[in-house]
Amino acid sequence: MTPEIINLIFPNPLPTPAEIEARYPRRNLPEGVRVTRIAPSPTGKMHVGNVYTALLNERIAHQTNGVFFLRAEDTDQERKVDGAMKIIVNSLGRYGIFADEGVDKDGKDFGAYGPYTQSERRDIYQAYIKSLLEKGLAYPCFCAAEDLDIMRKIQEKTSVRPGYYGKYAKCRNLTDEQILENLKAGKPFVIRFKSSGDNNKRMIIKDLIKGDMALPENDIDVVIMKGDGLPTYHFAHAVDDHLMGTTHVIRGDEWVSSIPLHIQLFVALGWKAPKYGHIAPLQKIDNGNKRKLSKRHDPEACITYFWEKGYPENALIEYMLNLINASFEDWRRNNPDKPAFDFPVNFNKVSNAAGALFDFVKLNSIAKDVVARMSAEQVYDAVLAWATDYRPTFAERLKANREYVIRILDIERNIGKKSRKDIVKWDDVEQDIAYFFDDLLTVSPAEKAALLAPLTESDIRLIADEFAAIYQPADDKETWFAHIKAIAEKHGFATDMKAYKENPAAFKGSVSDVAKVLRVLVTGRDKTPDLYEIMRILGADKVRARLAF
Ligand code: GLU
Repeated sequence: MTPEIINLIFPNPLPTPAEIEARYPRRNLPEGVRVTRIAPSPTGKMHVGNVYTALLNERIAHQTNGVFFLRAEDTDQERKVDGAMKIIVNSLGRYGIFADEGVDKDGKDFGAYGPYTQSERRDIYQAYIKSLLEKGLAYPCFCAAEDLDIMRKIQEKTSVRPGYYGKYAKCRNLTDEQILENLKAGKPFVIRFKSSGDNNKRMIIKDLIKGDMALPENDIDVVIMKGDGLPTYHFAHAVDDHLMGTTHVIRGDEWVSSIPLHIQLFVALGWKAPKYGHIAPLQKIDNGNKRKLSKRHDPEACITYFWEKGYPENALIEYMLNLINASFEDWRRNNPDKPAFDFPVNFNKVSNAAGALFDFVKLNSIAKDVVARMSAEQVYDAVLAWATDYRPTFAERLKANREYVIRILDIERNIGKKSRKDIVKWDDVEQDIAYFFDDLLTVSPAEKAALLAPLTESDIRLIADEFAAIYQPADDKETWFAHIKAIAEKHGFATDMKAYKENPAAFKGSVSDVAKVLRVLVTGRDKTPDLYEIMRILGADKVRARLAF
């Protein structure tokens, strides 16, 4: 292509590739140290899959003391949303995922390989596009949307593979004169890559996650620079990941079919391609079929869903680590006290079936364990932080009753031993502890009677009155239980479970029915953690008042 043409395409001065290379020295990291990145488009909402991809990339880099950076891929200016990077940075930060370089929450750069926002790198991309034009590896294309539409229809009708290639790549063969004429006439254009690939040949791609794949070579002359002068994803990926020294590109598998093109671009630009790993998207079962979790259709696809529900951040991280490597659970069992990020992630073992299913049953069970390992104070602090954002009234109650709530949360919480596992997410706590507050205990006498059926009201009253008369919060648990047993014996309830099982008809019930009376009257529920502890926390006055139903 003549210098005249190239100057018409890029009239403004651009740096040379050599100047750019000098600004981005090779990182010179020791062998085995990895540089990874996450490269989201700032479109506003954060998909739970972005956190998953970020976590995997962060672990893969930081496990080797490498570099993990964050790049804003905003070349699609129409989809760009102001403040989106803040959402991304804050979302990742919440899960303990921090970049060493990149864009911060205010969209500002940190690190030596910036700018990390693609729209600020226009000159860099253009410099390389110019070099491809000079080498005859790219060309301007003046086809309008309607021309391409007509071409696609012809391809459809004649059942040939769609795309801008071979004889369909009309502008590939324009003469310099024709190009000049079009440019001078001010015809809009894009720049296309001149592919030398052969679609009938296959290339072997070594994917770190999917293994070896034989993919057809790319023969499409893809657009590398759009009409607005910004590059397309494909081109920006090659330039940025080369200059920024990315060693491992771990991204969603919607890009698998583009790998041959990406490798071609690296070769055309004279660079070594990074290693690639492609992860399947998170899926859900919908009407019996597996499909991708979609931000548009599934509330749980947005990371904010997990915040609103109050899922502990660690629970989601542990759940994702378990999705990444199924050996996480064993590791956790053997290392109950270690931070989740100590788990050695192995990308050869990343789950790679048709896509990892987002399984709430599993998440909830992991969340229960995560909460069980926290101290009562930690749970209190986390619930308060959550409630402050999502349940202000509950937050006020928590603040006004700090010590009281911590004692409640401490019931059966024996770190390291068998802890209670009734809390999955912070959203559960308000209901869970409601009965400790008189104004929230709204169970009616009829509901209590229903829970205690078939016991008669007079039996219930006898048990309640007798217990109220002897109850002393200072009693130890044995004495407390001895009182319950004594009441049981006195009123015809079995205290010997064996005798009761052999002949239930001989008794009104067993000692556990007596305890149940106390439980239901005091808490309004038939299942609670340790009743002895509950009564001590409530105190004698409240216990007696509730027993006098
Ligand atoms: N901006 C691309 C995306 O969001 C990034 C893919 C990549 O990681 O290279 O899909």
